[in-house]
Amino acid sequence: MGSREDIEAVRRSLRSGILPVELLPGGKAIVLGSGDRHVTRDELRAQAEQVAGGLHDLGVKPGDRVGLYSASHLDWVIAYLGAQRAGACVVPMNPDYHSAEVEHIAGNAEPLIVIADAERAKVLGGLGLRSVDVHDPPRGVPPPMPNLTPESPAAILYTSGTTGRPKGAVLDHGGLLAQARGAIEMWRWTNRDILVHALPLFHLHGLGMGLHGTLLSRGSATLIPFSPQAVVAELTRNDAKRGTMFFGVPAMYQRLCDWLDENPVDLSHVRLFVSGSAPLPPALFERCERLLGQPPVERYGITEGGIVVTNPYDGPRQPGRVGIPFPGVEVMLGEKDEVLLKGGQVFKGYWRNEAATKESFTPDGFFKTADVGEIGDDGTLAIRGRLKELIISGGFNVYPREVELVLETHPAVEEVAVAGVPSEAWGEEVTAFVVPAKTHPLVESELIAFARERLATYKCPRRIVLIEQLPRNAMGKVERSRLRTPEQAS
Ligand code: AMP
Repeated sequence: MGSREDIEAVRRSLRSGILPVELLPGGKAIVLGSGDRHVTRDELRAQAEQVAGGLHDLGVKPGDRVGLYSASHLDWVIAYLGAQRAGACVVPMNPDYHSAEVEHIAGNAEPLIVIADAERAKVLGGLGLRSVDVHDPPRGVPPPMPNLTPESPAAILYTSGTTGRPKGAVLDHGGLLAQARGAIEMWRWTNRDILVHALPLFHLHGLGMGLHGTLLSRGSATLIPFSPQAVVAELTRNDAKRGTMFFGVPAMYQRLCDWLDENPVDLSHVRLFVSGSAPLPPALFERCERLLGQPPVERYGITEGGIVVTNPYDGPRQPGRVGIPFPGVEVMLGEKDEVLLKGGQVFKGYWRNEAATKESFTPDGFFKTADVGEIGDDGTLAIRGRLKELIISGGFNVYPREVELVLETHPAVEEVAVAGVPSEAWGEEVTAFVVPAKTHPLVESELIAFARERLATYKCPRRIVLIEQLPRNAMGKVERSRLRTPEQAS
């Protein structure tokens, strides 16, 4: 599966193949806004150049790591582009991370300096790490354009680590640009688009798609903290800054739909909604179709491999399927139906972790995603779950997502996550953690019987545990390792 386009052609189509040249072209048009503050391309470039000068004066040289540890903000973007302009390899950190997580990342990436807001600077101080203020960064005379190539590391993104400790995926300039270019082509992104950007900037979704895509397409973006009201307000403004697109994770679409149910608004003029980073349940797909006026385009990606597969912009958007590869990306299924990726977007390895790098590629150079996939007759991909989340019950393999998809269609189920709970009789027992729907009573035996009508017996939950909400990480992904039965919790 995959387009046969020459991967290198994607890279060659760019002028220089490095971020500070491609993303900072200058111009009078407004590019970014948040609240009342807006910057034009010229202003953005001038500010990034000054920050690059300040970092240079502090001793930052091309290739040095510069940490970025702050809440999302226009100043985050300026600091990021300043560090890119200085030739640094940026290490964005989740602002929700606590001291131990920051210590792990800083110990691995060894940033020369970290750009942080006041709250996070305290954490850094406690770890003896040097920081500068993201809202008042050092400024200086811009250094010469760094001597970089598309293969130079541009950023190290630490995996969200829902299992094990985060690993640093090294993403190079050419890969990040190929990725943004792919999104522009696949989603017909133009300089007339205004993205309502409410995603975290430290993650590939908000950074590689949201920010890089905006800058490379010469479009604009409005940065906002996520809330359904704020998103709707941006998409329905009565001025030239009205948003044309919104990118979100399924948990955001869930909240958006809950809000729209109470406060119906006509959003049929919005050009595009995109969903990714976690599965979009088919029921939510249909709810979005009804309340937003169109279903979101669901896409699939992974930090190491890039955002690489999407439902078509024009063709049918299929619930439960993630679509076809971006230009220059090859997708294949390996052993146990593992999704394998190759292409200009795919990373080359983990930072200072050769063993993990070696383990994550096949001998012929495909990245092993650890996601289980299925490729349909029409060539589209569906994600069935993570290999590591496989439940082995009574010697049979059960993929939690397959069971969740069935339970999600029951009216008494608001949300559900399925996991294996250790059991003497079965090895692991298929257990469904259910957030009950407010509108419909949930009878456990009824839900189990419902599953039995639709799934082989060994896949059916033996037990239902009612919970108030699913444990999720910053990207809205369910963290199955944090699910606990009452006995496990006590
Ligand atoms: P991250 O590296 O944080 O972007 O997480 C990547 C993981 O998110 C993938 O390996 C998938 O397990 C999951 N993921 C991303 N997009 C989707 C999607 N559309 N459907 C199902 N899982 C997804």
